[in-house]
Amino acid sequence: MLKSTGLESDKIILTKNKKMAKCECLEKCDFFNDKMANMPSMAHIIKMKYCESDNSECARYVVYKVLGKEGVPSNMFPTQMDRARELI
Ligand code: SF4
Repeated sequence: MLKSTGLESDKIILTKNKKMAKCECLEKCDFFNDKMANMPSMAHIIKMKYCESDNSECARYVVYKVLGKEGVPSNMFPTQMDRARELI
């Protein structure tokens, strides 16, 4: 059993070794900045899960890393990983 020392590093270990960090695309992302049509009602929860914690499973981010900003469809939501896989 892990014993917490209260350090920031413990929080990283206790979150199943997943790096918890804000996405590097926050400032310019249309989804995060509510600039997309038909924003889902649960957008704030999606933002907490992907944008402010772990972008590695965000469809928009995955496409961005492979194809660049221009390659991300304007109507792609973070949860559309199947669509992202088809593009990359
Ligand atoms: S929607 Fe994806 S790419 Fe945009 S800020 Fe959130 S995690 Fe990053």
